[in-house]
Amino acid sequence: MLALIGEALLAYVVIVAVQILINDGLFGLAKVFVQRIRDLPGVDLLIGAVIKREADSFLRQIDSKRSPTVEMSIKIPEKGISHDDLREEMKQLKGEEVNLDDGQIFAYVYTAQNEHYKAMEDAYLAFTDTTGTGTEKGDTDHETLVREFLRAFMHENALNPIVFPALRRFETETAAMAADMLNGDANVVGSLTSGGTESILMAIKTYRDRARSLFPHIKSPEMVAPITIHPAFEKAAHYFDVKIVHVPLDSDFKPNLDKYRQAITSRTILLLASAPQYCHGIVDPIEEIGNIAREKGLPFHVDACFGGFMLPWVEKLGYTVPKFDFRVEAVTSISADIHKYGYGLKGASLILYRNSDIRKYQLFAYSEWPGGLFGSPGMTGSRPGGNIAASWAALRAIGQDGYLRMARRLMEATLALRDGIERIPGLAILGKPEMTAFAIASTDSHLDILALADAMEEKGWRMERQQFPNSLHCTILPHHVTLVDKLLNDLRESAENVRGKKAKGGTAAIYGMVGKIPDKAIVDTFIKQFLSDVYTCKT
Ligand SMILES: *Cc1c(COP(=O)(O)O)cnc(C)c1O
Repeated sequence: MLALIGEALLAYVVIVAVQILINDGLFGLAKVFVQRIRDLPGVDLLIGAVIKREADSFLRQIDSKRSPTVEMSIKIPEKGISHDDLREEMKQLKGEEVNLDDGQIFAYVYTAQNEHYKAMEDAYLAFTDTTGTGTEKGDTDHETLVREFLRAFMHENALNPIVFPALRRFETETAAMAADMLNGDANVVGSLTSGGTESILMAIKTYRDRARSLFPHIKSPEMVAPITIHPAFEKAAHYFDVKIVHVPLDSDFKPNLDKYRQAITSRTILLLASAPQYCHGIVDPIEEIGNIAREKGLPFHVDACFGGFMLPWVEKLGYTVPKFDFRVEAVTSISADIHKYGYGLKGASLILYRNSDIRKYQLFAYSEWPGGLFGSPGMTGSRPGGNIAASWAALRAIGQDGYLRMARRLMEATLALRDGIERIPGLAILGKPEMTAFAIASTDSHLDILALADAMEEKGWRMERQQFPNSLHCTILPHHVTLVDKLLNDLRESAENVRGKKAKGGTAAIYGMVGKIPDKAIVDTFIKQFLSDVYTCKT
């Protein structure tokens, strides 16, 4: 206690001294003084507390509408909000925004003639696929609502959350609704990002910077992940210079826990797992890896980009879902995509942290730009407001009842499909997937699964090919519900047709060849050459 009072006094003296120095024009001296003082024990914490108080009061000064800090519990509404009520809310929120037509703003929006933007909006909306955003296939009312939100806010820019308070509200409430869905408490904070990849990039940057700050002796940081972790983590590893140590799978397509543990070294800064991994739709052993994380004192990110908006409802329906969310105490962050089973529009995902003490390493600030003080939470600078509004509207319009209804229908279709596929001679589902995705493999050496994929494409299906082992990935979506029998019949017919036949040409041959190249660097060069060709405009 005495020590605390002593430190508080010290901080007070420091702050007064700095103010005197600055007022006397001795800014340079004040800077050196502060740098010296910050090395004293406890001073950084106190400076942090003072800065927090100042930032709070700054926010209140520039944002008079900000409500006093009441702890609100914001959830996805139990029953979806009616479209008319949401339209009313939208009108009110839009009414409080700066009016772009008044011309009293100097940044963030680049206005042109209204007809021009009207044409842009029409083109954008024409190519924005809102089908499947409703709880029913072809729910045109819901699609219309989402489009209205998109159009109302598409010119607003979330780069400045003070100029556009509605966007800030949409973003913070969307994060809060998802945090509640994932059993987080009121301390969970997060950002809306442009997609799963940005969420993941931000998480890795956050933990890298956390390690730099807390464990500066680690020069070559590493993170541990099952081989099924999404390639976005490989990209993040590459961009941010954190090495991924890969853990192989057991026959149940889950990472081997002994090998997971062995992969941890004194350089490890982060553990990773997926709920579920995309390839086979299987949830990694989150609780078990959580135990390892707790034992080793390491942070633990769960990639629920795929399942974040599906597993909670599957669990509520009574299916067995291993605990994967903030209920697992060692989990420090979760990524979850709104533009997948959240049924939002392309370009919407969330990165959620257990508390702001972890999130602080994500935030970027630069105070020496001649253009003013700059701060930004994510990879992007300007951020289009339309999708932020649409995400918020989607969660509130669908509601818990809508997500549950949709999950029930998709799980029934998934189980019917899995059962039907297991009955087709020579085909099997890999492992025991927990939600609405699975991988089909061949159990018959005379049935080439890649040749089967080619045969299915001839029937109009677009198949997703996978390797190690070769298999076909299926994510089950609302549009599949009425196609279960057709899909099973086509699979059965195609399997009979290709059995005993060698794949001739087609993608099967290419994949077969690529699979035989031992040096994967050659394959990577091939992929980059392919990308280079694909992304060259040719007339
Ligand atoms: C889709 C997905 C991602 C990446 O998300 P994008 O939105 O495509 O960037 C990451 N992890 C998993 C498990 C995914 O399914």
